[in-house]
Amino acid sequence: MRKFKNQSYTDFTKGENRKAMEDAIAKVESGLGKEYDLIIGGERVKAKDTFKSYNPSNKGQLIGIFQKADANLANRVIETAYKVFETWKFVLPEERSRYLFKAAEVMRRRRLELAAWMVFEVGKSWAEADADVAEAIDFLEFYGREMIRYGSPPALPQIPTEKSELEYIPLGVGIIIPPWNFPLAILCGMTSAAFVCGNTVVLKPSSDAPCIAAKFMEILEEVNLPAGVVNLLTGPGAIAGEILVAHPKARFIAFTGSMEVGLRINEVAAIHRLGQIWIKRVIAEMGGKDAIIVDSEADLDSAAVGVMSSAFGYQGEKCSACSRAIVVEDVYDEFLEKLISKVKTIKVGDVKDYGNYMGGVINENAYNSILKYIKIGKKEGRLLCGGEVAQGDGYFIKPTVIADVDSKSTIVQEEIFGPVLAVLKAKDFDDAIKIGNDTIYGLTGSVYTKNRAKIKKAKKVFHVGNLYFNRKCTGALVGSHPFGGFNMSGTDSKAGGSDYLLLFLQAKAISEKVS
Ligand code: NAD
Repeated sequence: MRKFKNQSYTDFTKGENRKAMEDAIAKVESGLGKEYDLIIGGERVKAKDTFKSYNPSNKGQLIGIFQKADANLANRVIETAYKVFETWKFVLPEERSRYLFKAAEVMRRRRLELAAWMVFEVGKSWAEADADVAEAIDFLEFYGREMIRYGSPPALPQIPTEKSELEYIPLGVGIIIPPWNFPLAILCGMTSAAFVCGNTVVLKPSSDAPCIAAKFMEILEEVNLPAGVVNLLTGPGAIAGEILVAHPKARFIAFTGSMEVGLRINEVAAIHRLGQIWIKRVIAEMGGKDAIIVDSEADLDSAAVGVMSSAFGYQGEKCSACSRAIVVEDVYDEFLEKLISKVKTIKVGDVKDYGNYMGGVINENAYNSILKYIKIGKKEGRLLCGGEVAQGDGYFIKPTVIADVDSKSTIVQEEIFGPVLAVLKAKDFDDAIKIGNDTIYGLTGSVYTKNRAKIKKAKKVFHVGNLYFNRKCTGALVGSHPFGGFNMSGTDSKAGGSDYLLLFLQAKAISEKVS
């Protein structure tokens, strides 16, 4: 088998790639508005009610109609997954991995089409959508190889009278609850990690990105994954929380999303229910308030580019997005000047057009919440650019930079999840690190400095799950940057790393007396 290698990105500066993406966009647009079913044990199932998904960059454009599952259907899907687990768990690791490799092949073939669905359903620019598909392919290739590795664990030290071995076996039924912001990559990563380990899955996608989940299910059907290994249940978050997570036959929950929901899931899962014969395992990756530190000994041009793309790539709707720039006072004004001149070039509008760097934020609630934070921010600091909506039919908000903010202020402490950057002034490098660590989160962080001693120090004391130097704080690559955060950012499960599959497995030690 070839060694794992990250999928490269599509180069949209090339005319032929742009044309291919335009074609994909046109094709996807002509297929919008269809109705999608739940998939339970391979069967397509309708619910009593439906809900709709719309384009955040073109509010009236219907993406699709989806089933709103109720408690009965939620119970049915768990029972189905529970039954299928009895056979799927005995399928050999190599065979399970093969489904991932085949799915990766299909994604490569359907790459631009999948990216186009993300342009429409969640407002990703071409480059962001393409990177999302690339990451999904990476997860499939990486976890497929990882399962083969875990399928042959290293030999145990032996004692003379026995033969001892260790085997990694699956857990059971997993509830997979992904967010909308990496609607293919995170969904695919969590789901494929769970089922390649021999577990069966109930996938409950976000109601802001159900169509991408339906496309993922099409791919699993195309590679003939046995029915019922992955089941799709669309519907309200409460169904996931109160029925799926609480169900005594659910063995584990893999969640990525906000801190509030993650904490609630952890609480619900902790309660032992009648008939439940295990303690549920919860893998929860949550929010961030990520900082980039710009030191007095930094390359300020490169820092300005890094902060700009980390703060405003995909409208700042990444858990890893830079929402705090902490700048040492000696270079504060010079850095801000460079940053603002770059931010002012950002184009906001319908991301169907290649030229737009930022699209609409995900929905009306997010739009109102971000605008509310901007209002607070204008009081807490000095507005340097943005601070208002942008014209058009989407939930468009201009990239906003608010400077001179105090570390304890609301816009510095709370996750806004939109295109709002707070800039803070630090007295010196040590002060910058102190401010960097001064939130309840600990997901990503980056430091721009040329000074080796400062790099060494930040490695020790900057408490974030993913620490970068002299580069942006977004864009973790599967394999090279195992991803996950500390403190209220989650359980640091390190998606895309070599420990990840262990979260979906349990080890069985077997010893036989031989003499
Ligand atoms: P969210 O918490 O609102 O929703 C996440 C998922 O939980 C969705 O599928 C939703 O339907 C479901 N859900 C909602 N209520 C629920 C409940 N009561 N019980 C069970 N499930 C429920 O988050 P979001 O808006 O989809 O995503 C944005 C958040 O995700 C941000 O906070 C971001 O930082 C975080 N995020 C974290 C990471 C990471 O790796 N740490 C990655 C991406 C996003």
